[in-house]
Amino acid sequence: MIAEIIAVGSEMLTPFRQDTNSLYLTAGLNDLGVSVAFKTIIGDSISHLTNAARIAIARADIVVFSGGLGPTEDDLTREAAAVALGLELHRNPAIITALYKRYAARKIVMPPNNAKQADILDGAIMLENKNGSAPGQYLDTTITGPDGQAHRKIVILLPGPPSELKPLFDSQCKPRLAETLPPRYLAKRMLRMALIPESQVDARTAPIYQQYADVETTILAGSAEIQLHFLCAKPTLAEAQARVDELTEKIEHEMDDAIFSSHGESLEEVVLLHLGMRHLTLAAAESCTGGLLAQRLTAIPGSSRYFLGGAVVYSDSLKTTFAGTPANLIATYGPVSPEVARSLAEGIRARTEASLGIAITGIAGPGPGEPGPDADKPIGLVYVALSDSEGTQVKEFNLTGDRERIRWWATQHALEFIRRHLL
Ligand code: ATP
Ligand code: MG
Repeated sequence: MIAEIIAVGSEMLTPFRQDTNSLYLTAGLNDLGVSVAFKTIIGDSISHLTNAARIAIARADIVVFSGGLGPTEDDLTREAAAVALGLELHRNPAIITALYKRYAARKIVMPPNNAKQADILDGAIMLENKNGSAPGQYLDTTITGPDGQAHRKIVILLPGPPSELKPLFDSQCKPRLAETLPPRYLAKRMLRMALIPESQVDARTAPIYQQYADVETTILAGSAEIQLHFLCAKPTLAEAQARVDELTEKIEHEMDDAIFSSHGESLEEVVLLHLGMRHLTLAAAESCTGGLLAQRLTAIPGSSRYFLGGAVVYSDSLKTTFAGTPANLIATYGPVSPEVARSLAEGIRARTEASLGIAITGIAGPGPGEPGPDADKPIGLVYVALSDSEGTQVKEFNLTGDRERIRWWATQHALEFIRRHLL
């Protein structure tokens, strides 16, 4: 069974609005074991929409339309679906009554164009919309293809606003689809790795996951992180789970400690978990990241037990005031130097009495370093220092990209530094 999603609306063909409904629908269809083979975005034009509907009905078993069910001139999905299917629309009196009631409750007279929302495809089930005026439609029908054979087609029309589409799809479409489709159970796992190139992950894992043709493997890269997603569908959950677990175990063995999470936790959650297991606390002195590391850690509920806090030591003078870094050290080596990073990590650890002190100092750009020792240092140069009772380690990174990217990657390196130190 394959599906096609058609997102209707000219606004999604501009740079200002994105089609997010199809992502939601895809996740829901995948849960039922249906893959989405095509997605189409069409503007509010009856001819384009009818053409797209014809193509979709010919090539997919399930076609889901989103949007274009409202009362206005440019809401054309019903008409296009009817023409493409060769079906008539019938005005449903119960829907008309409901529409009148809806308007009466708000003490306004219903504009006559609203009546077209009551036009239902012949043979379709009306899907009541509790969050808006346009009902959805669900049609389970058989059409004769160009091959002269009968083909079963499910055509679903859903309103565009996500707050209306989501509940209609979940409560009225998924159960109907589940009854139609063969029973299938899905098992999913996700492995996450930080700061490792996608090509390297693929080179090392492909020979393993390629042996599991029944497990769908997806590699996603982004934000200094690689995710490996595994999905398997079987007639029983136990079978599906066993396949996914077996593959995951082999990949975990291959990638070893590069994997920071095997149950979906974020890198900051994992760092806090490791601190908690070892009854350790952490404090941070951040220069170029301006508190981004602290923000990421404190976004996790319960982090206050292990992350004490720290200081944003952006200016040279605050590096001295809050982390005790000697002014002459900064003057000699520059604020972006291994010496200053080390001193910041040791200083913040001493002042907060945390078990670990982490410091980040670097040049995030777009301008060069401050006049003085840093003047000729490159944009993207970042030092991260980690200090504990055993001593202090400093790492140098040469990051690329814009300011936002350099700041994010710096925090990612800092978190990964802590995680690997605690392993
Ligand atoms: P209405 O009765 O609100 O007009 P409709 O079914 O005609 O419902 P549209 O007019 O196509 O829906 O879209 C209404 C709003 O829903 C859009 O302005 C947009 O904000 C949102 N929307 C529509 N399609 C999508 C989509 N594919 N992804 C995300 N949002 C969408
Ligand atoms: Mg509309």
